[in-house]
Amino acid sequence: MSIARFWRETPRRYNLGGSKCTICGTVYFPPRAVCPTCPHHRETLEKMVPFQLVGDGEVVSYTVVHDAAEGFEMQVPYVMALVKTVEGPVLTGQIVDVEIPEVVIGLKVRATLRKLREEGKAGVIHYGYKFTPALDSDVRPPARGPAVPAESGALPASDRAPA
Ligand SMILES: [Zn+2]
Repeated sequence: MSIARFWRETPRRYNLGGSKCTICGTVYFPPRAVCPTCPHHRETLEKMVPFQLVGDGEVVSYTVVHDAAEGFEMQVPYVMALVKTVEGPVLTGQIVDVEIPEVVIGLKVRATLRKLREEGKAGVIHYGYKFTPALDSDVRPPARGPAVPAESGALPASDRAPA
């Protein structure tokens, strides 16, 4: 991919710019030109507006990657997760700054801009979003009942035998 093309396509990627249907309120990322949720798609063509996702969400599914794609070998093992954002869209992203066993379904995370990879000797650096665990102070109070403790009896990282 050329640098020019990369930067043309970049802003909506790391800014998490999606679109929102002003008829039914559904948010999409990547942005969509029409709303597939509304019964009459064509009527939504002029009703979609740009919408910025805040990047907060929680892990709804994850997998530990041991066989990395080319260019990501140095990062294995790492966690790829499906993150359901507070606005609704589910994003795929790497979870970073966390011990792998600490990644659980329901883990609160926040999107952050990170270096994805470096290309060749010219050192073209590609950026994109990854997710980091959200700080306790960032987590909104639960809407109902006490929060489910994230602890699952796992030992602290320092007590685990090396993999
Ligand atoms: Zn709609």
